[in-house]
Amino acid sequence: MTCRRTAVLGAGALGLTVAYRLVQAGDAVTVIEREPEAGGLAAGFEVAKRPDGTPVFLEKFYHHLFRADHAATSLIDELGLGDKLVWPTPVSTILRDGGIHRLDGIIPLLKFQPLPFVDRLRMGAVLAYLKAEKGYQRLEGQTAEAWLTRWMGKNAYQVFAEPLLRQKFGEYSDKIAMPWFWSRVHLRSTSLGYLLGGFQQMYDTLAHRIRSMGGTVSLGTTVTSIDPRADGTISIAANGESGVYDRVVSTLPARITIGLTSNMPEAFSRKYGQGTALGAHCLVLELDRQMTDAYWIAVNDPGYPFLAVVEHTNYIPPSEYGGKHLMYVGNYLPMKDPLYSRSKEELVAQFLPYLQRINPAMSESWIKEVHSFAAPFAQPVVTKDFKAEMAPHVTPIPNLFMANMFQVYPQDRGQNYSIAMAERLVRRLEREAHS
Ligand SMILES: Cc1cc2nc3c(=O)[nH]c(=O)nc-3n(C[C@H](O)[C@H](O)[C@H](O)COP(=O)(O)OP(=O)(O)OC[C@H]3O[C@@H](n4cnc5c(N)ncnc54)[C@H](O)[C@@H]3O)c2cc1C
Repeated sequence: MTCRRTAVLGAGALGLTVAYRLVQAGDAVTVIEREPEAGGLAAGFEVAKRPDGTPVFLEKFYHHLFRADHAATSLIDELGLGDKLVWPTPVSTILRDGGIHRLDGIIPLLKFQPLPFVDRLRMGAVLAYLKAEKGYQRLEGQTAEAWLTRWMGKNAYQVFAEPLLRQKFGEYSDKIAMPWFWSRVHLRSTSLGYLLGGFQQMYDTLAHRIRSMGGTVSLGTTVTSIDPRADGTISIAANGESGVYDRVVSTLPARITIGLTSNMPEAFSRKYGQGTALGAHCLVLELDRQMTDAYWIAVNDPGYPFLAVVEHTNYIPPSEYGGKHLMYVGNYLPMKDPLYSRSKEELVAQFLPYLQRINPAMSESWIKEVHSFAAPFAQPVVTKDFKAEMAPHVTPIPNLFMANMFQVYPQDRGQNYSIAMAERLVRRLEREAHS
C-alpha cells in the first residue's frame, strides 16, 4: 500500500503537531512554512549562547504556559524537554493612576487603591465566581462589557476590565464575548510555565523528528495557491514550484486559506472568509539592568503608546541570558496601523518618555540592543458572534482541511489550544480513514 501524501501548511504549534502525528501514523508529510524558522507566532530568536555554544532563544512575542495547558505540557514531556519546563510565579501588575499595583491575589486586590473599597469587594466576588464556575454556557450570548458592568459595577469595569479588553481588542473591546473573559479568569494560574532556553526548542525538535521519520519541512517557502484537481488530489504552489497531495491540512488563518484556494464555493468563502483580527507588535529591549521588579505591567492608564511592558528577566533570571535584562514593550493593533512601519529608533524615541514615567531613572543608555517584531493575524477578535462564524475543519473541497487558532473558543488562543486542536483533528482524520 502506498502511503498518503499529506501537505501541512504552516509550521507553527498547530501545523507541526499535525505533521508529527501524521508522520507517526505513516503519512508521507510535507510541511510548508513561509518563515525561515519553525514556531509561527511562538518562534524565538537567538539572544544568547550557553558556555557550551548552544543557543538560548527568546520568543519574538512574550510567551508562557498556564497550569491548565495539559496538551502543551504533555507534548513537551513526550519530546524529552520536560526537565527544562519551569513554573515560577512572577509578579503581575496594573499601571493605573500613575502607580503600579499588584492584582494577582486576594490581598493585593483588597489593597487596590484606584477603586473604592466597596468596588474592590464587588470585583473580588465576581472574579471568585468566574474562577469557581466550571462552565461558560450560561454566559453565552452576552458581551463581557454588559455582564461585567452589571455584576462588577461600572467603576471596576472601567478601571480593571475595560482596559484589559482594550489592550487585547482595541476598538472592539465592547463587543467581546463574556465566555472569553470567563476563560481568562477561570483557566489561568499565577505560576507560569516556561521552557528554559526558549519554546523554539519544542518547534525545532518537532521539525527534527518529522524529518528523521521521513517527512519534509520546507522553511522559507510561501504557499501561493491551493488548487483542487479533478481526481480529488490537491496541487499546492509554493515558491514557484508545485506539488500534488492526497490531503492538505492548512493551519493558515481561514481567510488566507480561502483566498488561496481556487474554486472555493462562494457561499463558504463569504461565510468564513471574513472575521476580525488584530496584528501584534513587540519591541524587545536588551537592557544592562532591571527596569522594574514586575514581570507584567498591564498599562491601564490612558495615553500610553503601548499596552503592556513585560520584563521577561523578572520571570526567568538574567543569568539564563548571559546577564542581559530582557523587556518587551507590546501592542495589539489593526494591521494597517502606522506603528508597524516605524523604525526601531523611532519606536525607542516614542516609547522612552513613557517608560520613564514608569521608572524615572530609565535612560536610553541602559538599552544595549533593540529588536522589533510584527505579526499579522495575531489576535482573533472573539466577539459575541465569533462562535457562530467559526469555520469548520472540513471544507467543501474534498481532502482540504482547515485548522487554525481562529477556531479556538472560548479560550484565548495559545500554544496549548493549537496543540490540542491538532491532536483532536488527527484523531478524527485517522478514525475517518479507518471507518
Ligand atoms: C503577542 C503574543 C503573545 C502571546 N502569548 C502567548 C502566551 O503567553 N502563551 C501561549 O501559549 N501563546 C501565546 N500566544 C499565542 C501563540 O503564539 C499562538 O496561539 C500559537 O503560536 C498559534 O500557533 P498556530 O500554529 O495555530 O498559528 P501560527 O503560529 O500563526 O502558525 C501559522 C503559520 O503559518 C505560516 N504561514 C502563513 N501564511 C503562509 C503561507 N502563505 N505559506 C506558508 N506558510 C504560511 C506562518 O508563518 C505561521 O508560521 C501569543 C501570541 C502573540 C502574538
